[in-house]
This record gives sequence, C-alpha cells and structure tokens, in this order.
Amino acid sequence: MTRSLAVVGAGAAGSGAAYALRDSDIDVTVFEKSRGVCGRAATRRKQGCRYDHGANYVKGADDRTTALLRELGEEGLVDVEAPVWTFDADGRIREGDEQRGDSPKWTWTEGITQLAKRLLARTDATVEQPTRIASFERGDGWYLTDTEGANYGPFDGLLLTPPAPQTAGLLAEAKWNDDRLPQLIEAVGAVDYRTVRTVVLHYPFELDTPYYALVNTDKEHEVGWLAREECKPGHVPDGESLLVVQMSSEWSTDHYDDPLDDVAPAVAETVATLLDDERLDDPDWVDDQGWRYALPEDGAVEDVVRSAEDTNLFFAGDWVVGDGRVAAALWNGIDAGERLEERL
Ligand SMILES: Cc1cc2nc3c(=O)[nH]c(=O)nc-3n(C[C@H](O)[C@H](O)[C@H](O)COP(=O)(O)OP(=O)(O)OC[C@H]3O[C@@H](n4cnc5c(N)ncnc54)[C@H](O)[C@@H]3O)c2cc1C
Repeated sequence: MTRSLAVVGAGAAGSGAAYALRDSDIDVTVFEKSRGVCGRAATRRKQGCRYDHGANYVKGADDRTTALLRELGEEGLVDVEAPVWTFDADGRIREGDEQRGDSPKWTWTEGITQLAKRLLARTDATVEQPTRIASFERGDGWYLTDTEGANYGPFDGLLLTPPAPQTAGLLAEAKWNDDRLPQLIEAVGAVDYRTVRTVVLHYPFELDTPYYALVNTDKEHEVGWLAREECKPGHVPDGESLLVVQMSSEWSTDHYDDPLDDVAPAVAETVATLLDDERLDDPDWVDDQGWRYALPEDGAVEDVVRSAEDTNLFFAGDWVVGDGRVAAALWNGIDAGERLEERL
C-alpha cells in the first residue's frame, strides 16, 4: 500500500526531506505558503539584478554537502571566490581569517533558491503553493487545513519545518488529544531567534574592493554583514554594484517596521562611512526584507522534539539543531526523511 507524507515548508529542510524520499514509495506532498521555494535562502529579481537577500550562500559546506550540491548539477553552481573580510565596532576593516576563506561559498548563477528547486526537481513530490497551513488534526492519520479553509489528508506522516515560533503556533492550533502536546508547544516555542532586516543598495557603478563581503566580528556595529552581489556570476550586470546589507539584531529589532524610505538614507550613510566611499551615500534604488525569525539562537530539546515520532509526527529545520545555516537545515531535513522512511 502506498504511504503518504505531508511536509509543511519547502525550505532547505522540507526540500531535503522530500529529496531523501525520492526513491521510496512514499507519496510526498509539500505545502509552501510562499510563491517561491527555499524559505530564508531567498532570491529576488529586480531591475535586471538577481540577489540572495536572505542566506547569501551555503555557509561552511563540508565535503558531503559539496558532493550533494555537485550531484544536483554542476551547471550554474558557483563558489564565490573573493574572500570575506571583517570589521569591528570602529569600522576597522581587516583581512578575514584563513578558516573562513577556506571553505567554499556555494550559490548558483540563478540564485540560492536553486537549492530547493534542484532538490524538489529530482522528486515526484507534489508542491502545493502558495498554501499556508493553518492547523492540523489527528484522526485516522494526519489532516491539514489551510488558511482558505481547504482540507488535505489523511497522511500517514506529518513533517513540520517552519521556524520554531511558527511551528509552535501550528502546534497550539492542533486538534490532537495527546499528553505530549503541551510539552512540545513549550519546547518548540522556547527557541529564541535573532531578527535581521536586510537593506539592499544598488549603484550604477562598480565597486573595486579585494573582498566579496564584510562581517562584523565584535557584533557592536549597526551593520552585521555586507556583501557585494556582483561577485556572483549572473547576479548583477557589469558596471553596477548591489550591496546586501544585513543590519545588526538590535538595529533590526528597533527599526523593523520603519518605512524603507526613512531607513535607507541612514543605512547608505553608514555604509559609505564604513567603506570610506562617499558615492555610496546615494544609491539609485533600494529594496529590503525583514526576517523576524532570521537565525535561531539555540536548538530545541531533542528528546521532546522527537517524542512524537511514534505517531509519525516529525520536525526538521535549523532550529531543531540550533544552527542557523542552510547546510544544517538541509541535513536535518534529509535525516528526518530517512527516519520517516523507516517508520512509515
Ligand atoms: C538574513 C539571513 C542571512 C542568512 N545568511 C546565511 C548564510 O549566508 N549562509 C547560511 O548557510 N545560512 C544563512 N542563513 C540561515 C539560513 O537561511 C537558514 O538556516 C535556512 O535557510 C533554514 O532553512 P529551514 O528549511 O530550516 O527554514 P526556512 O528556510 O525558514 O523554511 C521554512 C519554510 O516553511 C514555510 N512556511 C512557514 N510557515 C508555513 C505554513 N504555515 N504553511 C506553509 N509553509 C510555511 C516558509 O515559507 C519557508 O519556506 C541566513 C538567514 C537569514 C534570515
């Protein structure tokens, strides 16, 4: 008999789980609230540019991650060659350490969303999108309801991959009469997140710096991270620059809802000072994205998160492992997929 699995979320974790089950007889349906896939590893296109405004690249890729990305297709796979340098609270820029420069910085000419696109393309999974799941219920299997009131199921298994606060929200709405539910809601809801507001600055001229990106190592500067998308082939036309500026957690929380028109001039001025280039005061267009739940500060209690696996309810994502990286989410999703195959 065919077994079925519902996956909520088509980020690295959800897509990784679907990929892990590509050769199984499990019928996978992925529900994704956005029009695109890959979640916080996001790419946007605007004015002839393409930019990764969430995760900039697959950070800290080890050999097995690199092997998997190569397996998904070499065409368009890019290791950003220019290095990441550092800066401190006083804006002193320094060459980065060797370790950071050593590991590959993977993305794709078509943007980092290629990761989920390529993973899902190798599966027979049905992707329902844009479909935001509002609640789930336990009956003779798992049933889901979306925000439009449409119902799905029964599914033999359910895998939840949204960021922890959103997963805790789904658990709180669940119709599931089980003693473990309050403990799960508490454990998942306890994961704290750093908030990041990304501000994108575009210039009609090309910057000439020895680095691809700058990271603030003492976490005392208003800017947390700044990257030049033109260092990625296929992202920015020649002769232009596009800076992805990720503001510090404190600044991002304080200015999360401020209109872009108000914050962009201040961010551009800060960047111009940091890079000591007054031309950067005046971008010709700007863009932004708020990430309320950008990076988990810690992981959820593993025993609790895995306590409902006997009912085929699984969880995956960067917050499960407490490591806000694409590769961590990907492998956690693959791992959940493999355990689901054994259980279902
Ligand atoms: C600004 C920023 C910069 C970062 N930089 C890097 C970096 O350079 N390198 C790196 O490796 N990592 C980076 N990260 C971290 C990385 O993006 C994440 O760790 C990783 O993408 C998490 O994947 P995930 O699948 O766990 O979660 P997500 O990517 O959040 O995927 C969850 C998915 O679930 C969907 N969803 C949520 N609720 C529902 C619902 N109710 N119904 C249906 N779908 C739903 C969401 O739309 C999303 O697609 C960065 C993150 C941010 C925000």
